[in-house]
Amino acid sequence: MSQAPNLRSALRIEPGSRVDLRKLDPSDTHGWSKGRASDELARGLERLRSLQERIWAEHRHKVLVILQGIDASGKGGTIEHVVGAMNPAGCPVTSFKVPTALELDHDYLWRVHARTPGRGEIAVFDRSHYEDVLVVRVRSLVPRTVWSRRYDQINAFERLLTDEGTTIVKFFLFIDRDEQRERFQARLDDPDKRWKFRLGDLDERKLWDDYVEAFEAALSRCSTAEAPWYVIPANRKWFRNLAVADILAETLEQLDPRYPEPAEDLTGVVIE
Ligand code: AMP
Ligand code: MG
Repeated sequence: MSQAPNLRSALRIEPGSRVDLRKLDPSDTHGWSKGRASDELARGLERLRSLQERIWAEHRHKVLVILQGIDASGKGGTIEHVVGAMNPAGCPVTSFKVPTALELDHDYLWRVHARTPGRGEIAVFDRSHYEDVLVVRVRSLVPRTVWSRRYDQINAFERLLTDEGTTIVKFFLFIDRDEQRERFQARLDDPDKRWKFRLGDLDERKLWDDYVEAFEAALSRCSTAEAPWYVIPANRKWFRNLAVADILAETLEQLDPRYPEPAEDLTGVVIE
């Protein structure tokens, strides 16, 4: 039996509520065992595959999936294992990096708006405009007066997108400090993973508490009915994949995408 509706409501941040991450457990699996989860994940991925095909065919809905999380929280793994189940032709993925000189010459939403989904697309953001209230806030890359007004600007921007027909789903992949240490250590120890590790990651790690505070502010101020945040306990990769797949599938199902009628009358057409 699918437990998807439970996860979707259990992990969703109610608009207007104040998020305290210390009260949430990043190892929580909401009653799922790894064994049962693997069958449910397979079902979730098949639902996603089929829903995405219909969204693509119908060329009507626009879907934006935002992935945020501290370094090593599993954004890349979620893309590989969950987004990877869908047809890449209809799922453009954008990884937002340190802004280029050209990007910095514009407002912070300029590069983001350009990557939002068109009809039929499920666009996936690996990091997003939320970096402009996360790393930018923690590192004081702009003055407080500038970043502090961005929460309202982000809500207005997302409201514009949803008013114009985009469905937005935002996932915060929540790991704890010990889990990050283990994942960093694994990256150091495994020659095939070492490329992912940068010394700068350790400087960010030192700012853990500041990041927690910045994430709490973004989750508290920017979870809206139209563009909700979900906090995904992500210490266990298998649960993270299950929760993201199920919540996304549930969201897409509500759009009720359908294969379109053929554009022309095909009755009686014979292929010679
Ligand atoms: P990665 O996700 O490991 O490829 O790293 C991307 C890096 O880009 C991270 O260190 C982010 O903090 C950084 N980044 C992304 N967006 C911004 C932004 N708007 N301002 C500053 N740094 C950013
Ligand atoms: Mg990194």
